[in-house]
Amino acid sequence: MMLFGNQLVPDEEVRISPLDRGYYFGDGVYEVFRIYDGRLFEVQGHMERFSRSMAEIRISLPYPLEELENLLNRLTETAGIPDGLTYVQITRGAAPRSHPFPAAAAAEPVVTGWCSPFLRPLKDLENGISAIVREDIRWHRCDIKSLNLLPNVLLKQEALDGGAGEVIFSRGGVITEASASNVMIVKNGIVKTHPADHHILRGVTRSLVLRLAEGLGIAVREEAFRAEELASADEVFITSTGSEVMPVVLVDSRPVGDGKPGPVTRLLQQAFEASIPAGSR
Ligand code: PLP
Repeated sequence: MMLFGNQLVPDEEVRISPLDRGYYFGDGVYEVFRIYDGRLFEVQGHMERFSRSMAEIRISLPYPLEELENLLNRLTETAGIPDGLTYVQITRGAAPRSHPFPAAAAAEPVVTGWCSPFLRPLKDLENGISAIVREDIRWHRCDIKSLNLLPNVLLKQEALDGGAGEVIFSRGGVITEASASNVMIVKNGIVKTHPADHHILRGVTRSLVLRLAEGLGIAVREEAFRAEELASADEVFITSTGSEVMPVVLVDSRPVGDGKPGPVTRLLQQAFEASIPAGSR
């Protein structure tokens, strides 16, 4: 089943027009939720961010946000997937191709959503992954979870082609985030991550990890840091809905610290794991 508009329908009943503005302008926003133990995780954080992304690009959900939340819960229940992802997107709808917004009466926003199985990346969580650093060639509104992901796609592919797991973005020497995750470094026991401004996506996992760090008495600074600090960090990790708290043990082929996941990363991984439903641990 898929979400289409305000209904759950069989996949083959979803009909999208080739004139949908999401299709030719990327004119829409999306959200990705984690399913643990058959249920959506951190629902409120994701719903709030989706609502904000819609507001920032001036698309109105054609029904109340609470109704969308109910539909996504029903979609997830119906899917019956213990560990997975639930995706939802909204576009400005179908209209003859022209840059200005279509008149409200001429186009209805199109909502679609689906679930897919996704297992926790346990091996990588244990051993860590490698990353490359590349210039952040995205626009200056990375706080909006927009459908326009070509820079992320191209640079992530470059990372994978070179055998790395993620690409970390540097904007003029300042580390912002990664292609599909936020980046944190640890130096002398202090966690640093880019402030939640328009150069990064306000990760739901990032917020959770910052709360967990606070609870553990780990010092956190939401402040910009440069590529040199990344290179000389004791520990590096990324956070995202799919990657959770993922150690990065190699950056541009050079080991981070002693080349193994560090103690602060491990503490945060344990706290994260304790926060997810027992059925998915
Ligand atoms: N930054 C970018 C560019 C992302 O695409 C994502 C998630 O896909 C994140 C950060 C992490 O956000 P979240 O923790 O909400 O998944």
